[in-house]
Amino acid sequence: MTNEKTEQEWRELLTADAYRVLREKGTERPFSGELLDELRPGDYHCKGCDAWLFSSNTKFDAGCGWPSFYAQAAAGNVIYQADHSHGMQRTEIICKQCGGHLGHVFSDGPEPTGQRYCVNSIALIFKPKA
Ligand SMILES: [Zn+2]
Repeated sequence: MTNEKTEQEWRELLTADAYRVLREKGTERPFSGELLDELRPGDYHCKGCDAWLFSSNTKFDAGCGWPSFYAQAAAGNVIYQADHSHGMQRTEIICKQCGGHLGHVFSDGPEPTGQRYCVNSIALIFKPKA
């Protein structure tokens, strides 16, 4: 990783809520995130390290309460890890550059990928296209 920080540095960089999601794999409450209804064209970056993770042109309304995308912006920027917590078999999605927890990916998304990247708003920074 190119962006290694100590947990103390992360605590100083992130708000308490963002720290809980990105560094402690927390989940924001559904329908609470400020990017859920964001419809403007633009790019979604990692709040931890500013890596480019998602684009508005793959964002869709999954009705699940979290921002959802059917693809990542650039292959490999988001990495996958099996997550067996809470008695479920899920695939966690992680920012490759900083290791921050983003959310989970499910295989019930729309075409063309069939994937649903379910991402915590608070893990992202939205940059509208000028
Ligand atoms: Zn990151």
